[in-house]
Amino acid sequence: MGAAGVAGKETEQKMEESLNLLTSTQVVIKEALNKLGYADEVYELLKEPLRMLTVRIPVRMDDGSIKIFTGYRSQHNDAVGPTKGGVRFHPEVNEDEVKALSMWMSLKCGIVDLPYGGGKGGIICDPRTMSMGELERLSRGYVRAISQIVGPTKDIPAPDVYTNSQIMAWMMDEYSRLREYDSPGFITGKPLVLGGSQGREKATAQGVVICIEEAAKKRGISIEGARVAVQGFGNAGSFLAKFMHDAGAKVVAISDAYGALYDPNGLDIDYLLDRRDSFGTVTTLFDNTLTNKELLELDCDILVPAAVSNQITAANAHNIKASIIVEAANGPTTLEATKILSDRGILLVPDVLASSGGVTVSYFEWVQNNQGYYWTEDEVTEKLKKVLVQAFDNVYQTSQQRKVNMRLAAYMVGARKMSEASRFRGWV
Ligand code: GLU
Repeated sequence: MGAAGVAGKETEQKMEESLNLLTSTQVVIKEALNKLGYADEVYELLKEPLRMLTVRIPVRMDDGSIKIFTGYRSQHNDAVGPTKGGVRFHPEVNEDEVKALSMWMSLKCGIVDLPYGGGKGGIICDPRTMSMGELERLSRGYVRAISQIVGPTKDIPAPDVYTNSQIMAWMMDEYSRLREYDSPGFITGKPLVLGGSQGREKATAQGVVICIEEAAKKRGISIEGARVAVQGFGNAGSFLAKFMHDAGAKVVAISDAYGALYDPNGLDIDYLLDRRDSFGTVTTLFDNTLTNKELLELDCDILVPAAVSNQITAANAHNIKASIIVEAANGPTTLEATKILSDRGILLVPDVLASSGGVTVSYFEWVQNNQGYYWTEDEVTEKLKKVLVQAFDNVYQTSQQRKVNMRLAAYMVGARKMSEASRFRGWV
């Protein structure tokens, strides 16, 4: 192989490495712990989850056949308290992704200062092709398979990509039947009538909005009239587009898995919400669509990737025109792209901060379940705002004082508490 071939291979490897969510999370955790002055053992402890359970779940399908699904539950670190994090149903779920997502949950809980460590679960499946009956049997089967390692004081699941309050309800019911007592605190994101919290459904989007407001203040941009492009129209993306629209911003673009809609004068968000199906699909109703990739490069002030990971890469980071990027999705920007954006002076609010509104209100839900006393929506919103403004401020100040980008600053703020707790427990 010639020199060009070797260089080509190296570049390819580098690209591959940066797209692996677990590897890139480890790189930033290591850097954050280094900056905080922790010994190498702390990194050795935190670079992988403490526990990773793989389960195989047999499900009777509607046509009478049996299908075996693979599921995971990862518990990253429980030094601070029980682990916490969602369960995603998606065809591309894999072990490394679930591990990385559980590490991000630890960081999120640290950033918003919750008494939790991070956990995450996933099942390899495509819920868009499954009936309600099949989804119910899969959800219940998953809970039976992981029941020994979860519980209100051990590990508390919640919704994530393609899971919702109905799935949480089935899971809570299955867990309560297994334990033979009602256990609302086993899972969050439940329907209101089963102990869900006011404001939980919109919490992730509300948290993103708070981060957008804080970032806009730093950049002297007024929300009124600001041009916002939102990639993704699922739980986070759709609520967010609505909130920004109602706050007077011009939502110029939205997208779903099939394409993007663009109108420089602002889209009719209420109409789109009305036409959206339960998986967030709406662009298939229109002819004149752009691609998701084109959406990222549109002329706008604020870009919100609220869909899937690895969207902003070294290949397109130079073409982004927004001056603020707020990551509502988990892992939408690669490390190479983060560096390019930060060198270009773009203010990037990282996922572990921007998307922490969901777990914050999940914590409120769990507190309400434990005390059996429920709060009003205004109380929830007010508490959420307080927590997130403080978290944004901590991360922003750290980034200014330590002269590091916002992602590294967020990891520093997020990793501190679990490192300290692990140290006090004598683990490192
Ligand atoms: N799945 C959400 C997240 O990634 C929420 C987790 C929770 O509420 O526990 O933050």
